[in-house]
Amino acid sequence: MAQLFKHYINGRWETGVTIGVSENPSDLADVVGEFARADANQTEQALRAAADARGAWADSTPQRRFEVLDAIGSELIARKEELGKLLAREEGKTLPEAIAEATRAGMIFKFFAGEALRLRGDRLPSVRPGVDVEVTREPVGVVALIAPWNFPLAIPAWKIAPALAWGNSVVFKPAELVPACAFALAEIIARSGLPAGVFNLVMGSGRMVGQTLVDSPLVDAISFTGSVPVGEGILAAASARRAKVQLEMGGKNPLIVLADADMDQAVECAVQGAYFSTGQRCTASSRLIVEAPVHQAFVDRLRERVRKLKVDHALKRGTEIGPVVDARQLETVRGYIDIGRSEGAELLCGGELIERETRGHYLAPALFLAQPQHRIAREEIFGPVACVLRADDAEHALALANDTPFGLCAGVCTRSLKQASHFKRQLQAGMVMVNLPTAGVDPHVPFGGRKGSSYGPREQGAYAAEFYTTVKTAYTLA
Ligand code: NAD
Repeated sequence: MAQLFKHYINGRWETGVTIGVSENPSDLADVVGEFARADANQTEQALRAAADARGAWADSTPQRRFEVLDAIGSELIARKEELGKLLAREEGKTLPEAIAEATRAGMIFKFFAGEALRLRGDRLPSVRPGVDVEVTREPVGVVALIAPWNFPLAIPAWKIAPALAWGNSVVFKPAELVPACAFALAEIIARSGLPAGVFNLVMGSGRMVGQTLVDSPLVDAISFTGSVPVGEGILAAASARRAKVQLEMGGKNPLIVLADADMDQAVECAVQGAYFSTGQRCTASSRLIVEAPVHQAFVDRLRERVRKLKVDHALKRGTEIGPVVDARQLETVRGYIDIGRSEGAELLCGGELIERETRGHYLAPALFLAQPQHRIAREEIFGPVACVLRADDAEHALALANDTPFGLCAGVCTRSLKQASHFKRQLQAGMVMVNLPTAGVDPHVPFGGRKGSSYGPREQGAYAAEFYTTVKTAYTLA
């Protein structure tokens, strides 16, 4: 019998109103498990539990919060192999990538365990004689955390850990494609000694569970990572009732290769950034902008490297690229490959379905030569597809890089300190990488974008306090 992944509501494991099934995208005959799906009533139970528990946790000592978060981080790291295996099986990224993600989730909890103790505040004189002023931070209250499927441990970790570190209570809604990972994380959190109701896991559809969270007057703040259309809907609903909101959405991230770049390094940045994790990363380098003098050499070398990438079962040793996450995403990605061809972009390699020992959603990584106006060069595809754009010179490359509605991450490969400084200043993105892939970020510094990619305060690092706390200014006449 398949394992049933349950909700965690008010300190108890609960079955759902309906049941969903989680499949292994590397092997469609392998059912990872069944999971509970909630309706609006069950979602509201979790919200009431979180609202009732908020006082107990908000008033807990920083030391207690440190201990809870540190214990969660330690268990994640101790069990990284087992959790990585589950993640690779359910989401389809390769085992080494999945183990690294489990480790990163643990590191995030440990970082925020420290933040729970590193509280800051100001005490200063008033402009009025005899009056003191204090500026302190308090928890926001009940936070709804809505996550996508592509980083099923790390993204929930970077929302749940700061929420708990600063004394909030949580209702966490994972994506329906990755309930086993959400359940595994919830099991670890449930063992950490939190009071009942402070952390709740509710699974189910975005339209039902997600929308109930977004519309509920019990929710003080919503942190969402996912697609642009869903994010825009959440922003409209949340601002109408003045809930705090933070959105991390898509990207169409440029990687610029200047003529003076180290070619080996540039090709490696492109391969890793564009295709690893099957290209299913909001920070993926999907636009490779190459300066004219090295364009042909770069394209030749990249094509050779992409052709040799090993696409196979995510758990198989030596696999470099796992399957696409599900049939729907595969259809979307293949649709973009057709659009690219029909608009006149040149497909240099890949794009075809491939068969392996097990039946899965395997796609050969695709590389296009495109023009800036092509849809494959403008819209987020979220799969193993990248396109190369040719730039006349460095300034043209910069203009092409910034010519996008998105602004999450941007990269530049160059040996020139002058160019590196210029591009760091001029790229319109929340994150800039020099001689590094656009994907791959640290857990202790802010993460987020500009323009259509993000809205609201940054996630991660000490900056996460902006979202998960609210400021109080107190005046005292002694
Ligand atoms: P999605 O928008 O379809 O779903 C994200 C989450 O929102 C899921 O949990 C979903 O169930 C929920 N949801 C759907 N409809 C909802 C509604 N009406 N109300 C409330 N919640 C709702 O995104 P996805 O397919 O899971 O993930 C892929 C997208 O996520 C890509 O666009 C990618 O760029 C983006 N992403 C962004 C970042 C980032 O930090 N910028 C990181 C990872 C993924």
